[in-house]
Amino acid sequence: MRVINRLPPLPHESLESLLGRLGAANRYPNQSWCLPLPQPPAPRDPNRLCHPAHLKAVGELFGLDPGEVPKLTLARFEPYLTGIRPRESEEQAGVAAETAGNGRIEVLERYAHGQGRGKVCRECLRETGALMLPWSLRLVTACPAHRLLLSERRGELPTAVSVAEDARGIALTKLVWSAVGCGESFPPAGLRQETVNLLGVMGSPGLLCFLRRMGGLLLRHDRGNPALSPVGGDARDIRSLGTGEAHAVLSVVVGLLLDWPLSWYETLDRIAEGEVEHTRDRVGFPLALASAFKEAEWRWLHRSWDTFVEGRARSRPTPGVYAWLHRHYQGLGPRIVLCT
Ligand SMILES: [Zn+2]
Repeated sequence: MRVINRLPPLPHESLESLLGRLGAANRYPNQSWCLPLPQPPAPRDPNRLCHPAHLKAVGELFGLDPGEVPKLTLARFEPYLTGIRPRESEEQAGVAAETAGNGRIEVLERYAHGQGRGKVCRECLRETGALMLPWSLRLVTACPAHRLLLSERRGELPTAVSVAEDARGIALTKLVWSAVGCGESFPPAGLRQETVNLLGVMGSPGLLCFLRRMGGLLLRHDRGNPALSPVGGDARDIRSLGTGEAHAVLSVVVGLLLDWPLSWYETLDRIAEGEVEHTRDRVGFPLALASAFKEAEWRWLHRSWDTFVEGRARSRPTPGVYAWLHRHYQGLGPRIVLCT
């Protein structure tokens, strides 16, 4: 069986969106008309189809090249997300229990919204009537074409918020769309030369991993940062944030990169003093940093902490940095984890 009216996918369109448009073009009342798919059982979200039998069946049904179907699903992002090993805590958490045993899908699930949750650019939606696949990713928070914060896909769409005047938010958007292969080549041009060098070291999977992990670290350890004040006080992971909050946190992380290393040193100064004032967190930022970024590819980040502490030691250390100096000279900073 094949549908009568066929439609080519739009740039960056998701399979869910194409199915919806095909359903309307062929006067089907809902998407159930494309089921059942062959065994094994298929996920409810078409964007998560990954079994070859499902992809083949969908391609045949809609007259699509079987090789083109995965480009409409989250598997499209796999080359941009893999390459950085998960932390032990993430491995133990089993990010997507239903997909346990499939490492590729687990990586994708770490970056994608859960089924039934997503975001849209209301202007893109109004112009094309299509849903874009990158909107399914947690790190994608704004539309590069319309410079609007994405809106949650729940109920009536609210008035979109412009990010056109937000330089860091624009840089974040440009970086993330580029890093997932939906913008200009990575690293995008137009950023400061120092930043481009740093991004070259990280690569696109490294950048996406840095945004996600550093965002979580700042939420837990840099609550004195005024730029994070709009974010709920209990949030400890960007997965728990709404789109606007995630955009704010990730913009702060991009700000670290754009103004590296000065903004990083300012952040470390603030966190060090916060640890002296609030001693509840016994882990401490140096060990949390080492735990979040323990792989060899983050050696440059660990060294930046050493450089910071050694630089402050030559001046007059503040109480917070003085405590970190002890760690530094006892080998209890981020470096120690690299040696295990
Ligand atoms: Zn848009």
